[in-house]
Amino acid sequence: MLRARDYAEADRVVTLLTRDFGKLNGIAKGVKVSRRRFERKLEPFTQALISFKRRPHGELVFITRAERVEDAPGEFDDLRKIALGSYMLELADALTTEEAEAIAAYQVLTGALATLSRAMPSRALRQGFELHMLQATGFGLDFGHCRLCGKVIEPEAGVVYFVASRGGAVCSGCRAQAVESAVAIRPTSIAALARLNVAPLAESTRLPDGGAEGTLAITRFLMTILDRKLRSADFLNSLM
Ligand SMILES: [Zn+2]
Repeated sequence: MLRARDYAEADRVVTLLTRDFGKLNGIAKGVKVSRRRFERKLEPFTQALISFKRRPHGELVFITRAERVEDAPGEFDDLRKIALGSYMLELADALTTEEAEAIAAYQVLTGALATLSRAMPSRALRQGFELHMLQATGFGLDFGHCRLCGKVIEPEAGVVYFVASRGGAVCSGCRAQAVESAVAIRPTSIAALARLNVAPLAESTRLPDGGAEGTLAITRFLMTILDRKLRSADFLNSLM
């Protein structure tokens, strides 16, 4: 579940990222009175098997039942996990649209939350999640090649520049041709980002991260494609 708000006395309006139906907005009637059907299943971070009915003219589907998925992570009790998990939900919500297929995004999100439930939150997990979610939603970034001349970026090439509007790195030789503002990234960080971009997300917790400049570069890119700032990002940045 991505987000929820209470509605009327006993109802809840929820936004769900589903495996089979993309992103769905639904209403669960009587969520606070029908404990048997809904209790603690439509909460942030939970994964549930839901039954729903489409309504002929309504934008909201009618959620009739929710069953918790066994073995799925539920709540987090660590503040930093809550911060990173909340950021994951908000980013997944911001990058997906209603009616669009979202199987890849669903798999990235559920995989990331499962990893977060087992490991301590880290910058590498955050960056791995951001990169994989961008790929899953059609905004994949390239750290392996210069976006202008196409040359492979070698570790000995020195500092490279991340240019958000070009969707990736620009080598020092081409930097003068890219007039947009850029984030300078050290070779070790660019190599780490390139690795996180392709490694399975579950392995990211054991990999080096792309440093503070990596986070800055990805944040700049997200700001070019999203129409709003993510509220959970400030909270996460204050803790990590
Ligand atoms: Zn170049």
